[in-house]
Amino acid sequence: MSDNKTIPGDKIGIIEEYESGKNTFEDGHNVRATVIGTVEIDKKSRIAQVQNIRTSGIPEVDDVVIGTVAAVMSSMIAVSINYVNNIRTKSNVECICQTRHFRRKNIALVNDIVALRITAHKNGTIHASINEPEFGVLFTKCKKCGGSVIPMRDAIKCTECNWIDERKLSNNFGKNDFIKLGE
Ligand SMILES: [Zn+2]
Repeated sequence: MSDNKTIPGDKIGIIEEYESGKNTFEDGHNVRATVIGTVEIDKKSRIAQVQNIRTSGIPEVDDVVIGTVAAVMSSMIAVSINYVNNIRTKSNVECICQTRHFRRKNIALVNDIVALRITAHKNGTIHASINEPEFGVLFTKCKKCGGSVIPMRDAIKCTECNWIDERKLSNNFGKNDFIKLGE
């Protein structure tokens, strides 16, 4: 028990020492973990519990993800997920997001950074939604010249060449402190 990470079945302590809390069970002698996680001991109440941690990097329904647009198709975009609930993931999981209901030419372009909410797992595919105001493009560049852009309602304008283009912007667009990408 040098580190306090557990896998299911790991002994956390003896029952004379601790009571069994969340994500643990007693086997008659010991308190053991039921999940992969981090042990937390409440010294006052002597309750041992385990905080669940995600190790898979696979987002679950209702998780908020931030990712890089990998492909743009006529009715959907494919996004390579970089963050799940603000936790960096290197699992290279992709999700797809329907965009055909937007009456816009461009929702997001390849390499744009977007925020999405996971809506479903279907046949091994992860589906996400971009509909709510906080979801959409967080970072993009000018399609023509690669220059930086400023938002204009639901459009963006290039500060270099003045090209105006459409995107489905997140209401967090331009708040560049959201997370540092690409580390
Ligand atoms: Zn430009």
